[in-house]
Amino acid sequence: MNKNVRPLGALAAASALLLAAGCGGGTAGTGAAADQPGQLDVVTAFYPFQFVAERVAGPHATVTSLTQPGAEPHDLELTPRQVASVSTADLVVYERTFQAAVDEAVDQSGNEHVLDVAAVVPLQPLAAGEHEEHAGEEHAEEGEEEHDHGGLDPHVWLDPTQMVTITTAVRDQLSTLDPDHAADYQANAAALEAELGGLDQDFRTGLASCRRTEFITTHTAFGYLAKRYGLSQIGITGLSPDAEPSPARIAEVQQEATEHGVTTIFYETLISPAIAQAIAGDLGLATDVLDPLEGITESSRGQDYVAVMRSNLTALQKAGGCS
Ligand SMILES: [Zn+2]
Repeated sequence: MNKNVRPLGALAAASALLLAAGCGGGTAGTGAAADQPGQLDVVTAFYPFQFVAERVAGPHATVTSLTQPGAEPHDLELTPRQVASVSTADLVVYERTFQAAVDEAVDQSGNEHVLDVAAVVPLQPLAAGEHEEHAGEEHAEEGEEEHDHGGLDPHVWLDPTQMVTITTAVRDQLSTLDPDHAADYQANAAALEAELGGLDQDFRTGLASCRRTEFITTHTAFGYLAKRYGLSQIGITGLSPDAEPSPARIAEVQQEATEHGVTTIFYETLISPAIAQAIAGDLGLATDVLDPLEGITESSRGQDYVAVMRSNLTALQKAGGCS
């Protein structure tokens, strides 16, 4: 057999995955995995909840994500197979109002073993400025009512202390479903909570003394993070990552950048940097990545939630001139 066959096969498989992801959901990549006897089947809506569930469950569950790596979770559509997986899951972890397709699948499933993160971490209204942008943004596509979060900001996972709350809630759910392994869930959750606590501490000390507290980002995903650590987020496109800002909004942002002495325009890994580059280019500013952790891909600056959050911290420190 030609030794080139394997790499080519792998490449084809990778392309197929990319295609599936590009079509807005695709097949439930890991969702098809049969759980082992005695293993729980946990279905999560998107990456940060998958991360928590995997860490807390350890070997006792098969954890899948409804949002494929690299796919945009805001626009998620589900395949019939994924909808079915929501019905049959031992536990579904999702956040009501973030992904309309998941809300609908949960409602239709009649599955009572669901953890709604929005019920354990109260969602905050958008800050005044953010709300204005959201209302005024121009959408590129139709069917954008899915992006109406009822005036609430869904991005709670970008605050590490809220991730601790989510971890505790997942632990409690798993312990109830599978009391035989409650001690393991307890220990795994404690380890993750300690790691998240360390991350929170590093954010607090790392951002305690900055020359600039304002930061500018395309996708307005960092409201909870900003509030927690005393920063101020200026969003360009609002809550929908793929919305096109109006020329007026771009001009406003450029004015704010000049006013606050901002040096860096942030963009995110899953979305084209074109908008950030256009704004930065006119003013001679730098661009950098601030990752909303809505998925992990090969271009992510880190292998998991904690590692990417540390990259975010480094980027914020650099942009803010923090000592
Ligand atoms: Zn988002």
